[in-house]
Amino acid sequence: MGNVVTGKGISNLRSNVFTIHDLMFPLYVIRGEKNLLVDCSILAKTKEIKGKLNELLGKEKIDLVLLTHSHYDHTGACSYLQKEYGFEIISSMRTKEILENDKAIEFIDNLNQKFKKVLNDRSNSVFSKPEHIRGIDENDTIRISGDQWIEVFATPGHTRCSISFLLKPENILFPGDAAGVIEKSGKIKPLFLSSYALYEQSLKKLMALKAVVLALPHNRAIKGENKVQEFLESSLRETQRLKEEILAALQISTDFASIAENILNREYTLPAIMGPREAHLINVTAMVKSIFYEFVKDPH
Ligand SMILES: [Zn+2]
Repeated sequence: MGNVVTGKGISNLRSNVFTIHDLMFPLYVIRGEKNLLVDCSILAKTKEIKGKLNELLGKEKIDLVLLTHSHYDHTGACSYLQKEYGFEIISSMRTKEILENDKAIEFIDNLNQKFKKVLNDRSNSVFSKPEHIRGIDENDTIRISGDQWIEVFATPGHTRCSISFLLKPENILFPGDAAGVIEKSGKIKPLFLSSYALYEQSLKKLMALKAVVLALPHNRAIKGENKVQEFLESSLRETQRLKEEILAALQISTDFASIAENILNREYTLPAIMGPREAHLINVTAMVKSIFYEFVKDPH
């Protein structure tokens, strides 16, 4: 099997890790005594994901889902897939709290419904509260089999609930959105939605892990230790550059919404992830606010 991203199908990423291809939301399955799925894409992709999972797994099922964070495009298909496979979910404590909160469930469903419109999905599917969530912390280990396990790292900054998973001994890293998002063009978009300082710190923490594969949840994976390191360095540079750009804009005005609109119009004309504009605007506004609160209003 090749590793060319075709927009459909399944391929072997490395070792016992498989990619369920999608142009926007590739998913990763770790096959072993237990089958693990990392993240759950969007609600509109549920049927497609189920079909591909059944193709890959045959009569086996998904036993465990690892969530990198609580965002709607990582959790959207979760409740339906759980009804199908009955898996347990492992996430950060904060993600668990969010997914047990009715208001948050409504918010996640709302963005998923908007994405369904974008994709012309007219079904009446809804995102509902996932069950059987186990909260874990940094330094916890998830055993897959006798000689394979997953290490957990707190990587906040994208959100406060973000964690990353490192598959050992292979050193395959699942960073969620903590490493930024790669566009089709190869350009990297920073996503420090909850805190710039923590995002930068988390990026540096990921660099120190010396991963050989970066299994990104959007667009594609990065393979080879040097390529992974280059990606993370470039992601850090883009992060610092966007901070400077926002700081410059904040010198002129503190109208977060209009600063975000300007950045969105200039930089996100061809977004890495197609989706409701509202979701992108929420993201960029959050980054403007984090720079304001951390460097302008109350500089450390
Ligand atoms: Zn996210």
